[in-house]
Amino acid sequence: MPESQTPYDELCSLTRQIATLESVSRLVAWDQETYMPAGAAGARARQMAMLAGIVHERKTAPRMGELIQACEEDPDVTGDPLRTACVREMRRDYELATKLPGELVAELARVGSEAQQVWKRARTESDFALFRPSLETMVALTRQKAECYGWGDGEPYDALINEYEPETTARQIEAIFTPLRDRLSAFIAEVRDNGTPPDTSPLDVQIPADRQHALGLFILKSIGFDLQCGRLDTTTHPFCEGLAPGDTRLTTRYHEERFTDALYGTMHEAGHGIYEQGLPKGSHFGTPLGEAISLGIHESQSRMWENFVGRSRAFWTWALPHAREYLGSPIEPFSTGQLTAAVNTASPSLIRVEADEATYNLHIMVRFEIERALISGDLPPADVPGAWNERYKSFLGVDVPDDRRGCLQDVHWAFGLIGYFPTYCLGNLYAAQFWETIRSQIPDLDTQIARGRFDALRIWLNENIHAHGRRYRAGELCERVTGKPLGPDPLLRHLESRIRPAYGL
Ligand code: ZN
Repeated sequence: MPESQTPYDELCSLTRQIATLESVSRLVAWDQETYMPAGAAGARARQMAMLAGIVHERKTAPRMGELIQACEEDPDVTGDPLRTACVREMRRDYELATKLPGELVAELARVGSEAQQVWKRARTESDFALFRPSLETMVALTRQKAECYGWGDGEPYDALINEYEPETTARQIEAIFTPLRDRLSAFIAEVRDNGTPPDTSPLDVQIPADRQHALGLFILKSIGFDLQCGRLDTTTHPFCEGLAPGDTRLTTRYHEERFTDALYGTMHEAGHGIYEQGLPKGSHFGTPLGEAISLGIHESQSRMWENFVGRSRAFWTWALPHAREYLGSPIEPFSTGQLTAAVNTASPSLIRVEADEATYNLHIMVRFEIERALISGDLPPADVPGAWNERYKSFLGVDVPDDRRGCLQDVHWAFGLIGYFPTYCLGNLYAAQFWETIRSQIPDLDTQIARGRFDALRIWLNENIHAHGRRYRAGELCERVTGKPLGPDPLLRHLESRIRPAYGL
């Protein structure tokens, strides 16, 4: 080790090497989803497993632990708030990587891939009983995982949320979700009983995929996703991958009979992508200061562009002439008002991934309550269908006809992804709370959007959210930026302000 290299420098150089290896992993994973020929599947699986092994070995190396400890005791670090935050997050990553025994990780992966196959069959046959033994095994293993991670004075489920949403607890989530659920359910029932549903026929037009793709690229450029440092491709399941500095890949999918699926899917992934491009990867790549805070904050960025911008009247005022130019005659007859109303429905349904912006949150509440009870042991896996159907009735007012359209619709639990669902709704909540602050600080935001000017918004997001990397935890960032802890009111106000006019209320 050169004499001048401090423990902090050595630690950062190790994490940068790990990040570079991980960027290669992500590149081959991206290729697998996009252009890889089917014949390469076997070799690709071996490449990915080997890279994952090398990354894990480096992340858990004893030298990492020694350096982190040295940094925690080094006055040059402890006297510097930025370095202190960076080492705090490195400690977190190290703990998460080292706390699970190798056998448990292997068992989770093995059971997860088996359970996924069983889940597929059970869903096709709409038969929960087929999936139940797999779910029982997965819940037991996930509880073991929580035991290994440990939790404070809360409950085992907290240890699972912590992987995705650092230091956010089930009790904190419940304190926001419960009032949101009650008021949102009541509002949706009011809309159903008293409102006139908007005409959604402007969305039922036939548009070829290549025209939709051209519009998508135009929108990406306009809102400020940098295509010199990114791409847009097509996959079955859309995603965004911040591969490396200067390289952020988005994917989308096209349904010729509903162009807004791809339009909003692309804007959603672009929101993730603009966050990735806005992270300070130039100076901080490979350290927590160049990384995203949490899944909830990541999702707040995607939902903001997809919903808060993309479903606004101001957006359609600007976008409609361009949409006409790219998509052609099918959308000629429709006005800004008609399109805005058509994309702001609140109509309870069975399937989460097809839900509108408002009811989506209630689908998440169902999953949050059930998985929390599964992990605490209050709900035996055998009782999941009953608990599911009961909640769909009480939260959304819908009857679940079968398990395929009920508790078997998502693959998450088969993979052992428990504690993940709440981050989708947290993303909506964070987005709404940021949005109110943004509107107060950029009073002419609507006028700007209506003129296709998105730079003030993007710069605000960059300065207030993206530039900090993982310096602050999500809740702390929210308080710093908005002056208040996260709460349900901004999201409720936002949804009401969009849905009431669409339903003539
Ligand atoms: Zn997302």
